[in-house]
Parts: sequence; C-alpha cells; structure tokens
Amino acid sequence: METVGSQTFLRETYDLVIAGASFAGLVAAREAARLGASVLVIDVQAIGAGQTSACATTLSALQMLGMTAAVQQVHREMVIHLEPASGRRSDPLSFRLPYPFATFDYGKLCRNLAVDCMADGVEFARARVTGYQASQVVTDRGRVSGTCTIDAAGWRAPLASSIAPTHVRRDHLSCGLEVEVQQPGHSPASGLHFWAGHGTVWPGYAWAFPAGAVTRLGVLAFPEAGRYFPTHRPSASVTTGAVATGVSGGSSHCP
Ligand SMILES: Cc1cc2nc3c(=O)[nH]c(=O)nc-3n(C[C@H](O)[C@H](O)[C@H](O)COP(=O)(O)OP(=O)(O)OC[C@H]3O[C@@H](n4cnc5c(N)ncnc54)[C@H](O)[C@@H]3O)c2cc1C
Repeated sequence: METVGSQTFLRETYDLVIAGASFAGLVAAREAARLGASVLVIDVQAIGAGQTSACATTLSALQMLGMTAAVQQVHREMVIHLEPASGRRSDPLSFRLPYPFATFDYGKLCRNLAVDCMADGVEFARARVTGYQASQVVTDRGRVSGTCTIDAAGWRAPLASSIAPTHVRRDHLSCGLEVEVQQPGHSPASGLHFWAGHGTVWPGYAWAFPAGAVTRLGVLAFPEAGRYFPTHRPSASVTTGAVATGVSGGSSHCP
C-alpha cells in the first residue's frame, strides 16, 4: 500500500502517536481509534512491506482480530526433529497442539488492519522515527506530539531507546533468517516443524512452517558470549531470497 500515508503530519498533536505499523502498532491504533482517540501511525516502510516473522500464531488470535482472511493454513500438529551432531537421527516427535495454530499472509494482515484503521480515522505518515525529545516524537520529517506514545517499531525501539538507552539488550538478542519455498502441489506439508540439537543451528533452532502454497524455512541463533555461531549443517538447502530477517525481541538485521 505504497500510497497510504501523508508525508507530513496533519496536526501538531494527537491523543496517540505510534511508531511502527506492523501487527502491534496497527492493532493498537485500530483499538484506540475505536475508543475515540485521534491516532497517528508512523512507519518508515509501506504497510505490510517489512515482514519480520514466520507468521505463525494461534488461530484464535486471528479470529479475535477479525483477520481470518489472512489465514494461509491451519495447523493441529507440532513436529520436533532432533538433530544430533553425529550418529543416528531419532524419528521425529509429533505432538497434537492444544489449540489450532495458523500461518498467515503478513502483507494481507497488515493491509487489512490498515484499512480498518483508516475507516476508524487513523492517520498514517511515512517517516523514520529517530527519538523522543521534549515530549515530542522526533522523525526525519519533523516533530509531532502525542498525549500518549507507543513504540511498536520492533527491536531497535527508537522511542524507548531514546528515553532509556539501555532499553534494548543487544547482547540478549537472537538472530533469525527466513526464506520461502514453493510447496510441492502433489504433497503439501502440514504441521509446524522444528529442528533442534547440535546438528543444526546451535545454540538456536530451525523451522519449516507450511503456509498454503509456500513453506517458510527459517533459522534462529542465540548469542553465546556475545557471538553468533555458524550453522554446522544447514537444515535445508534453499536458493530463494530472504523474506524475513531479524532479531527477536523485534526484527530486521543481524548484528
Ligand atoms: C525470522 C523470524 C521469525 C519469526 N517468526 C515468528 C512467528 O512465527 N510467530 C511469532 O509470533 N513471532 C515470530 N517472530 C517474532 C515476531 O516477528 C516479532 O515479535 C514481531 O514481529 C514484533 O512485532 P512488532 O509489530 O512489535 O514489530 P515488527 O514486526 O518488527 O515491526 C516494526 C515496524 O516498525 C517499523 N520501523 C522500524 N523502525 C522504524 C523507525 N525508526 N521509524 C519508523 N518505523 C520503523 C518497521 O518498518 C515495521 O513496520 C519471528 C521473528 C523472526 C526474526
């Protein structure tokens, strides 16, 4: 939705200014606007452009948001693949999930939430939030005031970090990378699959989340003594471009 959002702010002050227009920011914006607040959402990217997730969550969460149109596949099973550093692999362990999970289309979810937001009067602006000074949100397109502000800009947390520089514990962040591959039409996969053990990313894990026509393959590494260790044996060989990279508690690059 490249055209959404003004390049300048229509007002000097809003009841609520939100940095970040991913799931967290958009849902907060929609609910606040429905309670009668004036809301401005600022994002540096187009709505739905910055996927940072494998996009698996509980089906009930999507139902509560009224966002089931974005569901790609429903999962009732989790499958754990234990990968020893050497020797024989054990059979995968399958568990029935206590409640259904769903993989969803990130762009569609965000765009649909943005449509709801706009119907409820939320304003959007394309700008980079750089900090918080003198009770104002500072951006590369000027300053704006909010009676309340929410930092939903992912792991870098530009507002929160501006107020408390140690807010983001960089030494505690995990680092992830993900690609999408086409599912074979004749035999699509199901279930949420995880690979763990010294034979895969360690310390860390890998996953394969089927999502309709595609499967999302990802790896995530935890830091050890401030370093990320290389994958010993990639859990899958892929050639497509990355769809999601990031670090958790947030997203978007590997330190
Ligand atoms: C590879 C990977 C896979 C994951 N898979 C899952 C999963 O399957 N299920 C799950 O529940 N969680 C998953 N996570 C975690 C999940 O993605 C994050 O917890 C979630 O994305 C955080 O949402 P958010 O809305 O707070 O921030 P984000 O999704 O990071 O969105 C931040 C938004 O803020 C914008 N922004 C950033 N900086 C600025 C700035 N300075 N100014 C303006 N805008 C800015 C960005 O453009 C973006 O739109 C995964 C994480 C990774 C890295």
